[in-house]
Amino acid sequence: MKNIDLHNHSNISDGLMTPSEVVRLAHEGGVTMLALTDHDDVSGLQEGQRVACELGMDFVTGVEISVSWRQRTIHLLGLNIDPDFLPLMNGLSLIREGRNLRAERMSKELARAGISGALEGAKRKAHNPNIISRSHFARFLVDKGYATDTAAVFKKFLVPGKAGYVAHEWVSISEAVGWVLGAGGIPVIAHPGRYQLSTKVLMELLDESVLSGVQGLEVVTGNHTAEQTEWFADECVRRHLFASRGSDFHGLGESRYLPGRLPDLPLRCTPVWQAWSSRPGSA
Ligand code: AMP
Ligand code: MN
Ligand code: MN
Ligand code: MN
Repeated sequence: MKNIDLHNHSNISDGLMTPSEVVRLAHEGGVTMLALTDHDDVSGLQEGQRVACELGMDFVTGVEISVSWRQRTIHLLGLNIDPDFLPLMNGLSLIREGRNLRAERMSKELARAGISGALEGAKRKAHNPNIISRSHFARFLVDKGYATDTAAVFKKFLVPGKAGYVAHEWVSISEAVGWVLGAGGIPVIAHPGRYQLSTKVLMELLDESVLSGVQGLEVVTGNHTAEQTEWFADECVRRHLFASRGSDFHGLGESRYLPGRLPDLPLRCTPVWQAWSSRPGSA
């Protein structure tokens, strides 16, 4: 039985476990092919690959790139990438610089709302000083007692309209797609049902994404309802796109699903792993 999970985070971005720990947990849970897809950083892939190899598990090099589309943040997965491809490395490095500037601004906004020391607090929560995420701010704010869990803290402070939210312009979809394709990877829109778009705007996002070179949609994800899964499966079939499956695992207690413990792709979909597993007998 194949169990393929192509969306997981480690503490190289906002996950709670090291790349090795994520790979081991997935392996223990029966995952046969795993992608590590940290936000805007590929520096965990070597370690993940090494451990997966030791365990005899297929490993897919991935990244989840923060992009902007009509003033909204969208996440683009790059799957099966060459992480050493220079334009990708340089592009991700620029995004990380932008993240750090955003973190400084978030901290100033929180200070205006009476919460001091947020930047230092978020940095203490981050394992990789190059990636400061809203999740790190959220964990700091939970520690300080501003809410009981990270989901509540997001609602209260870290989403548009709230004190600690700072709008940020990432790169365009087509720019990030260019890096992924150049790196030999497959660009996939992550959790397309999570962006709270009307059907009309969502269709426009998908139309423009396909024109920019996006080749797949994440159909099964920890972020989708069963109805959304079916809807995006239909979109994949209609648009001749690959379909992906990923838990979006961030850590024990922080994620809806453990690696690999989520529904299968609907049978009518063409799995994205066919793109790199065309050899007979492979996954
Ligand atoms: P960032 O890329 O720094 O803006 O942070 C986005 C990350 O925050 C996502 O990848 C999720 O891990 C996390 N996140 C976003 N929204 C929520 C939410 N409502 N509750 C909990 N975590 C969230
Ligand atoms: Mn995240
Ligand atoms: Mn995401
Ligand atoms: Mn993710």
